[in-house]
Amino acid sequence: MIRLNGPGTLKVMKKFYWSTGFHKTFKDDPSDAEIPSHKLLVRAGLIKKVAPGIYTYGPMALKSLRKIENIIREELDEAGCQELLMPMVQPLSLWQETGRSGVPELLKFKNRNDHDFCLGATHEEVITDFVRNDLTSYKDLPVSLYQIQTKYRDEIRPRFGLMRGREFIMKDAYSFDENEELAKVSYQKFKKVYQRIFDRLGLEYRVVQADSGAIGGSLSEEFQVLAQIGEDLLLVSDQSDFAANREICARPYQATDFSSVGTSKFKDPSHKHTFATPGLSTIQDLAIFTGIDAKCLVKSLFLKDDAGKPFTVLLRGCDELNPIKLKKVLNLKNEAQMLNEQEVLKLTGALPGSCGPQGLQTPIYADHFLKEFQYYMVGANQTGFHTQGLKVDVDFKITSFADISFAQTGDLSPDGKGVLKEIRGIEVGHIFYLGTKYSQIMKAIFQDKNGKTQPFEMGCYGIGVGRTMQSAIEQSHDQNGIIWPKSIAPFDVHLAVLDPKNADLMTYVNSLVKDLNKNNLSVFIDDRNERPGVKFKDADLIGLPLRLTIGQKSFEQNQVEVLTRFNSEKTVVSLETLVEFCAEKYHECR
Ligand code: ATP
Ligand code: MG
Repeated sequence: MIRLNGPGTLKVMKKFYWSTGFHKTFKDDPSDAEIPSHKLLVRAGLIKKVAPGIYTYGPMALKSLRKIENIIREELDEAGCQELLMPMVQPLSLWQETGRSGVPELLKFKNRNDHDFCLGATHEEVITDFVRNDLTSYKDLPVSLYQIQTKYRDEIRPRFGLMRGREFIMKDAYSFDENEELAKVSYQKFKKVYQRIFDRLGLEYRVVQADSGAIGGSLSEEFQVLAQIGEDLLLVSDQSDFAANREICARPYQATDFSSVGTSKFKDPSHKHTFATPGLSTIQDLAIFTGIDAKCLVKSLFLKDDAGKPFTVLLRGCDELNPIKLKKVLNLKNEAQMLNEQEVLKLTGALPGSCGPQGLQTPIYADHFLKEFQYYMVGANQTGFHTQGLKVDVDFKITSFADISFAQTGDLSPDGKGVLKEIRGIEVGHIFYLGTKYSQIMKAIFQDKNGKTQPFEMGCYGIGVGRTMQSAIEQSHDQNGIIWPKSIAPFDVHLAVLDPKNADLMTYVNSLVKDLNKNNLSVFIDDRNERPGVKFKDADLIGLPLRLTIGQKSFEQNQVEVLTRFNSEKTVVSLETLVEFCAEKYHECR
C-alpha cells in the first residue's frame, strides 16, 4: 500500500514560492484564542475566523487536512469501505422520521417553496434512506460506506478554533449487517482501522469506553488524543489498558474508612441529635466544623425527572453526582434537573445545605458507596441545622442503591487491575454500535437467510478531521510555533532563502527544489525580501519538519544549514550532499 508518511507519494502541491503567492503570518495572538493550538493556527496563517465557530481554511491548512483525509481514505478503502458523498442540505422530514428534528444543534430553514430543510449535523438518517429499498438481501451484506463531508452543528459555545466549531469536516462511516454478532465484527474492524489511522497520524491517544449519547446504541468507544487542555476527563488504570470517559466510568464498590468519625467530637455515629451549623452550606464547611472526613458525611440532592416529579439522591460527601449514569439507572429521557432553592425549600422546609432525606415523600436513590452506612449525618431539614444518628429504614427508606457518582483518581479500576487516575483528552474519533435504532424506525429492512424481513444492524463511526489536525498541533508545538508531525505537515521542507535578489542563488534554489521534489519532498520557499530574523521567526511558527537556510555567503562557501524542527538539531551540509542528507533527515523526523 502507498503510504503518505514517508517520502512516498505526493498528492499535494510540491512547491510554493512565498514571494509570488499568498500567505500571511501574524505576530499577535488572536483575542479569542485560549489554547496554544488555536493561537498557532491563526498566527501561522492557517485558518481565519469568518463567524463564531466558522473558519476559512487557508491553502496551508487545506494541505494538512487533505493529508489527514488521504490517510483516512487509504485505511478505509483498504478495509473494504466504500466512499460516497451525501448532501449537506437535508429535508427535515428525514429527521422527523427518527424523532430527532428537535435536536438543538440542528440548524433548520425553509426554501423559497416553504419546504423545511436542515444542515447535516450527522448523516444516519440520509445513509439509512440511501440503502433502504435498494439493499434488500442478506446476500448483499455486510456493507460499509463512508464520506468526508462538512457538518454543521449549531454548538451553543463554539471555542478553541477548529476544536469545537459550528461548521467542521467529519469523516463519517456507517456499517450494515445482518445480525448483532456480525455488526459487532464490523465494529471491531472499524476499531482496528481507527487505530491504524491514528497511529499513522503520529498522535498520542487512548481508546476509551464512552457514552453513546443522543445517537443511541449500547457499545461505544472514543479515540482521545491526550492533552492538558482536553475538554474530556478520562480515567485510566495504572496497571492495565482500561480507559473510560469519566461520563460513564463505572466505580467498583469500596468500603469507606470511618476512622475520622471516631476521632471527632461527634464520635458516636448512633447518637441521634440535632445541632446548629449556622452559615455552613457546603460539605467541606461541615467536614471542617465536625472534624469528620467528607467521605463519611452524606450529601442530599434534590432533582426532578422528565415529568417534573421530584426525587432525592444521596451521595458520600466526597463524591459527585454523575447525571449520565443517573439518567441510565432511572431510564430517563433527559438528564434530571436540580430543584431550585425555592423548590427545595418547599419540599424539605429548609434551604439547600441544611436538608436531608428524613420525612420526605420522594423516592430516594443512594449511591452504592453508601451501602454500608448505617447512621447518617445530614441536614436537619431546618435551615442552619444538621442531624447526626439518622438510621436507614427507621428515619427514611432508600428506594434503591446504584452506581451514580463520578469515578475519580484513586478508585479501583473496573477491570480489577490497578487503580484509576484522571487524565485529559480531546475526542477525535468515536465509534458506535447502533443496533436497529435507525433501521427499525425508518423501515430499512432486508430478507434474511430464512426469508424473513429484518431491520439492518448498524454501526456508525466518526472522525473530526479539523479537530484531529488541531489536536496534533496541541500535542506538538513549542513557544516558537508548530512542530508538524511529518505525516500531516503541509510541506516537508521550509527553504529560507536569505538573498532572493541574487540571480545565481535563485537559479540554484530552483534546481534544488526540483531535486527535493524528485525525492518526494515538498518545499515551501521563503523567497520574500525580508530580514533573516523575520524569516527564522516565521519558519519556527509555521513549523515544517525540515528547515534549510541558504544565503549568498553560505552558497559561495558551499554550505547549507539543515535544521530538524522537532529537536532543533542543526547540521551544515555541502551542496553536493544536500538532497540526500535531507531525505535521510526527513526519515528521522517524527
Ligand atoms: P463532542 O462530545 O465533542 O461534542 P460528539 O460526541 O457530539 O462530540 P460525534 O457525534 O461523536 O461528536 O462526532 C464525531 C467526531 O466529530 C467527534 O469525535 C469529533 O472529532 C468531531 N466533532 C464533533 N463535534 C465537533 C465540533 N463541534 N467541532 C469539531 N469537531 C467536532
Ligand atoms: Mg462523540
